[in-house]
Amino acid sequence: MMSVEDEPDSSIDHAAAIQYWNGVDATVNGMLGGYPHISRIDLQGSSNFVAKLRRSRTAGPSPPSEQLRRAVDCGAGIGRVTNGLLSKFAAVVDVVEPVEKFTREIKDKLHVGEIYNVGLEDWQPQHSYDLIWMQWCLGHLTDAQLVLLLHRCTHAFASGGWIVVKENTCTTLGQKDLYDEVDNSVTRADGKFRTVFETAGLKIVATEVQKGFPKELFPVRMYALRPDENANGEHP
Ligand code: SAH
Repeated sequence: MMSVEDEPDSSIDHAAAIQYWNGVDATVNGMLGGYPHISRIDLQGSSNFVAKLRRSRTAGPSPPSEQLRRAVDCGAGIGRVTNGLLSKFAAVVDVVEPVEKFTREIKDKLHVGEIYNVGLEDWQPQHSYDLIWMQWCLGHLTDAQLVLLLHRCTHAFASGGWIVVKENTCTTLGQKDLYDEVDNSVTRADGKFRTVFETAGLKIVATEVQKGFPKELFPVRMYALRPDENANGEHP
């Protein structure tokens, strides 16, 4: 058996991660680690995924022809996803992002609702959301922090809304999570995400792998989540 100390997420260091991101340019290139050209295809894939969710049999918070009321971009960086996706679907978009250098960029260039300058591990949702978007930032949280965050979110979204997680997944190497020393984050296995969601009382209502990304990158998977009514209501 592995001891807890051997778990990749035990190496996570929030201060070091913030220091790393402070040294990164406040540009799309910075956000996407030198792959700025994948942004368009990423946003297109996300947009199709959301449109499919809104047309699916399980009713959304509002008809697909109407805007969603409120969305939140978690680990928003400079607001690439807010700008290219969420503001097209929702009347108001809030952002959560711990690095001030990035939120300053959002303040200057985008029209958003609330800006929460905190890490997701410290974020307490204060509104009811139709869509909670979490992309390329959850590797900065430990498994336990991620479960608690998702559980807090289950109380902060409108009936019929969705939490969408879009993250790198490692599918090889025996499905084990990987620690990245450069940016202080973990890349989780698909199976780990599924366990985390279940522990947080969420069920997957749709999931797909983003198509069209360069082969050398980790597979990027989208998961649409809703509270699992069959889960026992205990706090994780
Ligand atoms: N989601 C955005 C940004 C990705 S870059 C996009 O897809 O374009 C990763 C972001 O995670 C950075 O902005 C970084 O500052 C942020 N981040 C780092 N630690 C975090 C934490 N503990 N909670 C939330 N976001 C964090």
